[in-house]
Amino acid sequence: MSKTPLTVEQIYTLAYDCLRANGCDDANAAATAKTVSTAERDGSESHGLYRLPGYVASLRSGKVAGNAVPTVEQVTPAAIRLDGNNGMAPLALEVGIPVLAEAAKALGIAVLAIRKSHHFAALWPETEALAEQGLVGIACTAHTPMVAPYGAKKAFFSTNPISFAWPRPGKDPYVFDMATAAKAHGDVGIAARDGHPLEPGIGLDAEGNPTTDAAAVLNGGVILPFGGYKGSAIATMIELLSAGLVGDHFSYEAGEADNKDGGPAQGGQLIIALSPKLIAGDDWGAHSEGFLSRLENMDGIRMPGKRRHQNRLSTEPRFIKTELVEKIRSLT
Ligand code: NDP
Repeated sequence: MSKTPLTVEQIYTLAYDCLRANGCDDANAAATAKTVSTAERDGSESHGLYRLPGYVASLRSGKVAGNAVPTVEQVTPAAIRLDGNNGMAPLALEVGIPVLAEAAKALGIAVLAIRKSHHFAALWPETEALAEQGLVGIACTAHTPMVAPYGAKKAFFSTNPISFAWPRPGKDPYVFDMATAAKAHGDVGIAARDGHPLEPGIGLDAEGNPTTDAAAVLNGGVILPFGGYKGSAIATMIELLSAGLVGDHFSYEAGEADNKDGGPAQGGQLIIALSPKLIAGDDWGAHSEGFLSRLENMDGIRMPGKRRHQNRLSTEPRFIKTELVEKIRSLT
């Protein structure tokens, strides 16, 4: 399969120009291109340029407003509501995270409830942005049904991702970011595109039978939750936090409202920020480092986030599928 070498800056420009050509104003195009290019920088392939045709489809169908201006309402000092005004999530996050961080640094805890935005990306950018400021970040979101609850054969949950980042003074944060599905939908899509089989236990076909055929999962089948009933319970919690608590769509509601243009459905996102300095006290960093350094020095351990943080250090070009680059250029 042919690949095209592109620097992170070239990836940013490719995404920015494409978004601008499809109705985004400068602020939305810049925020989204940054999200796309940092995903490619870190090797998060399923949330980089791969998502751009979907963004374009939603801009063209009018589902997503390319000139949306997010608005912030501080309901209480610790509860911040952000209305994305039907735009894409990156700009909403760019506006909301500084307000959330400031509130958490003053109060010890604060929550950002994002409504009416379209999230199509990884969640680590928002939790890492908090950890970089010495805060613990927890983020979750829901989109459209793709995952069958444990025991069921019909989709009800989305792949409901959750990310957690813990700040490490002078080091990259401890961060995980994962779908609560056995596999993220984007990765099932990449397996189908590349003709690779799935591992057993990832999905069911349209008849409800276990399958390793990614195309069968996408064509009327379902993805399974990770970890059986335990993953199903965590996925339920994410629905309740990012829809029930935020006041936006549950996955089934988002699915019913979505125009199925292939782009991101409208959904909510909840982000919680906590200050370990205010909650635990001044020795929080040394104390938690004692734990984390023991953990990472255990034989066989690979810390989550490590792969991305190592990828990030490379100044070499990233190799993007030529077919995808050409598709994006044709959309520009
Ligand atoms: P993975 O299963 O690839 O990875 C999940 C986490 O585990 C990552 O933090 C990863 O770190 C870490 N990890 C991976 N392998 C190991 C290992 N061997 N040992 C220790 N840690 C490990 O992620 P998913 O496929 O579940 O999710 C991919 C992305 O999809 C996420 O960024 C998620 O936010 C996004 N997503 C977004 C949705 C949306 O609606 N916007 C919906 C669903 C998913 P590392 O990153 O360093 O590899």
